[in-house]
Amino acid sequence: MRTRPGYATSPFFKLMISPLLSRDKFVIDRFLFVMVYLPKVKIKNSGHIYLIYYILFVWDVSGMLELIELTMYLKESFLLALTGVFQFNFSGLCTASRIFFLMYTLKNYFQSKFNISVYKITIDAGFTCPNRDGTKSTGGCIYCDPYGSGNGQFSKCISIEEQVENNKRFLKKRYNAEKYFLYFQAFTNTYAPVEKLKEIYDKGIAGGKDDILGIIIGTRPDCIDEEKLKLIASYYPEYEVWIEYGLQSIHQKTLDFINRQHSVDDYLKAVELTRKYPVKIATHIIAGLPYETRDHIMETVRFLVKHNKIDALKIHSLYIPKGSGLEKLYHQKKFDLMAMQEYIQTVVDILEIMPENMIIARLTGEIDKHHLVAPDWVLKKQKVLTGINEEMKNRGLKWGLGSDLD
Ligand code: SF4
Repeated sequence: MRTRPGYATSPFFKLMISPLLSRDKFVIDRFLFVMVYLPKVKIKNSGHIYLIYYILFVWDVSGMLELIELTMYLKESFLLALTGVFQFNFSGLCTASRIFFLMYTLKNYFQSKFNISVYKITIDAGFTCPNRDGTKSTGGCIYCDPYGSGNGQFSKCISIEEQVENNKRFLKKRYNAEKYFLYFQAFTNTYAPVEKLKEIYDKGIAGGKDDILGIIIGTRPDCIDEEKLKLIASYYPEYEVWIEYGLQSIHQKTLDFINRQHSVDDYLKAVELTRKYPVKIATHIIAGLPYETRDHIMETVRFLVKHNKIDALKIHSLYIPKGSGLEKLYHQKKFDLMAMQEYIQTVVDILEIMPENMIIARLTGEIDKHHLVAPDWVLKKQKVLTGINEEMKNRGLKWGLGSDLD
């Protein structure tokens, strides 16, 4: 006698719960997002959106990004719903947070220039830093974490090639990435003899096979010279090449306090030298450094805008990583941290005076909660970005590079 299949064994039920059975954390997170949160959000036509998201969001079908972007343009209420969800910090929502971000950042530049899905692969190539190895100092910059702002991959004995391959696989699976920029991020990525630098950069490119479009090299302004620039520029035109200089502030008193061990003059010389080569320049600044007011920060930005020699600006919010020099000072209550609302106001003040052609490569800081001492609000990246967007709207400002958020 044939028995009727029970509910639990029906193909439909199996299909519905199969994300849970996949054991893929990302798929499970997205499944939970769709199943648990979306039904609680009151949106017009929510049934349709719910269904579309179930199919596309859970199953990672290509074209998902375009659809979500379109939906966000068309349905502001849905955008708000999404950003509301972000604050729950589900790890699987990284996809959506990235979508929100790509509208006006370096991603936007990649999109307009290459018209395909381009992602950065972050590399820890095992460099050190003259500000840590005793050449300039041993303490490092007081906000620097023990991994030199990197991901600590090299100390886990993961080779450069492996890092590139692993990242590629991950980005392809999660975001449907097509091409990549190598981002040499941790410590000082020009702090080695030229032959060694070439060996390291070549390893990164080899790991990416034919999928690398460019390289980004993060460094200090006092760790560059003509010889190194010639090497870096030699990757052009086959690859687009960027150097990212940490400046943080134009106020020497601040640079001394945070133990940068270089001057504004070092930065200006590095930029002038770099400008002789086909290398794009990004500059990194920090908003909220101890004893700096909003006026100090704006002076730094006005200086960069007036100087007008860089292609991109990275704005980083100050946070205190565990194990940094700042941690002790913070516990001794030696300075105040910037509040989130003040940070948002400051960033929009900055954006208000940015030239249209300058790329905003970063709008806030990011750190893992296990490595963070304070402030907690830096963990709420989407809340910060939403706040910036709202403030932009309040002030009647539009995003540059042809992509406003309205
Ligand atoms: S220069 Fe960079 S790597 Fe070196 S101590 Fe400062 S932040 Fe850290």
